[in-house]
Amino acid sequence: MIPIDLRSDTVTKPTPAMLDAMFRAPVGDDVYGEDPTVNELQAYGASMFGMEAGLFCPSGTMTNQIAIKLHTQPLSEVICEKNSHIYLYEAGGIAFNSSASVKLLDGIRGKITAKQVEAAINPDNVHYPVSSLVSLENTCNKGGGAYYTLKEIAAISKVCKKHRLPLHLDGARVFNALAASGEEAKDYSKYFNTISVCLSKGLGAPVGSLLLGPKRMIEQAKRVRKALGGGWRQAGYLAAAGLYALHHHIDRLQEDHQKAALIGKALEKAAYVAEVMPVETNIVICRLAAHVTTKQFLEYLGERGILASDFGPQLIRFVTHLDLTDEAVEILVPTIAAYKA
Ligand SMILES: *Cc1c(COP(=O)(O)O)cnc(C)c1O
Repeated sequence: MIPIDLRSDTVTKPTPAMLDAMFRAPVGDDVYGEDPTVNELQAYGASMFGMEAGLFCPSGTMTNQIAIKLHTQPLSEVICEKNSHIYLYEAGGIAFNSSASVKLLDGIRGKITAKQVEAAINPDNVHYPVSSLVSLENTCNKGGGAYYTLKEIAAISKVCKKHRLPLHLDGARVFNALAASGEEAKDYSKYFNTISVCLSKGLGAPVGSLLLGPKRMIEQAKRVRKALGGGWRQAGYLAAAGLYALHHHIDRLQEDHQKAALIGKALEKAAYVAEVMPVETNIVICRLAAHVTTKQFLEYLGERGILASDFGPQLIRFVTHLDLTDEAVEILVPTIAAYKA
């Protein structure tokens, strides 16, 4: 039995066409800046978002951590939402890599407002760390895939500009946000100083993320990447997968969102589910009723070849992706409906 794997959108395997592109990639030594496929990916990714330059890295954790390193100093502080990936899921990297502090804001489904950001900026007083960066996540993973609109981003950017604070985007799933909002990637350059984009999530590449930003900053980012051990050689084989994904796997993200909506509907009808977060993109998070444990429900699903994630007390996360077929959804929906707790 091939499992129906909804633990994450990172579980996808390259399609035959993507593998073919990887096999055929012209490559060179990227530490020397000589890999034509890496260079093409970096330039193309940057142009999509209207940014000057890009850096291809092994992971979204690395692109976020490099950006934080470049924007902060020891004794300074990053302002972000309390459930941000940069704080919660990057192994304490902000403290480890940047010796910086974090100010956590209490957002709604992972989203914070311009007003909250303005109130969180520290006064210029030696008691406080220096507020030096604001970071947003779009879509918000722990927020059930909720997304920011450009209008909300513009308001936060305005506060940042007023206080001379750079604004970073953890855009691991930014293309899901854009697919849902119908907005343009290019407009992001007006608001963000740096952007991290994952190619290995909904876009279906096996490995890799891009850090986008001003040319001088990306040159510096390349030095930090080297210090982190992320200077890689013939990485063009992997960059080719990323390029293929940017060319072929963006338009189809709506399919993932439709499948997530079907899963959300099935969970809403289930008596053992207390609440389903509004489904906006490819993530579905539900809270189980008090009489069911996450372990029991995951075991029930597991016995039927379905994998989902334990996402905290009473919470289960399902993520739809490229490798989730219509047939799998046809199995999944009645299986969700049939559970008796
Ligand atoms: C996956 C993810 C990242 C990066 O994760 P890596 O596994 O290091 O590539 C960053 N932010 C969010 C919101 C993510 O979901």
